[in-house]
Amino acid sequence: MSKKIKAVIFDMDGVLIDAKDWHYEALNRALSLFGMEISRYDHLVTYDGLPTKKKLKMLTMERGLPAALHDFLNDLKQKFTMELVATRCRPTFAHQYALAKLRAQGMPLAVCSNSVRSTIELMMRRAALLDYLEFFLSNQDVAKGKPDPEIYVKAMDRLGLQPEQCLIVEDNPNGIAAGKASGAFVLEVASVTDVNLENILAAISHFEGGATC
Ligand SMILES: [Mg+2]
Repeated sequence: MSKKIKAVIFDMDGVLIDAKDWHYEALNRALSLFGMEISRYDHLVTYDGLPTKKKLKMLTMERGLPAALHDFLNDLKQKFTMELVATRCRPTFAHQYALAKLRAQGMPLAVCSNSVRSTIELMMRRAALLDYLEFFLSNQDVAKGKPDPEIYVKAMDRLGLQPEQCLIVEDNPNGIAAGKASGAFVLEVASVTDVNLENILAAISHFEGGATC
């Protein structure tokens, strides 16, 4: 039986938005008020793609950050992230083109991100991608963030589709693990520049079994 992919679900950070540095800068700016800092290496290897609350919990376990500061640091980090988004987040033609074409082909599109709802909405709006999405899910919509598959399972449920009818686009180990555990096909990208119509259509064709290479 031939498989047919009917929807594409995107991760946001590192896939549609190059926000790694913004999250890194914003968290460090908040932590620096208390004399703490995450190295770029640790951020890329250990913390990237995790919700801020999870990162703060890890800093408490590993480095003794007082847990009483979590809420304050979390709020401050979100505020700093919003400031960076306001000055740096811009539309990317290749992304707008890809999402517009897929949508025009009748393919529903969604975003599933470990970020909070307000950040996703702001980033998608500033990147001029919000209108192409059926919906987006945030870490506030699930009990467990990625690498747990819950967010993708919930999105597929909402789309009314089976895992084998969905392509997930992910960039980092936590997200790729979540995507694979959900049972859907996963296109792994190295950066936002890999996210273009050609690569997405090639992945769809490949997973549907129509690939010649
Ligand atoms: Mg990501």
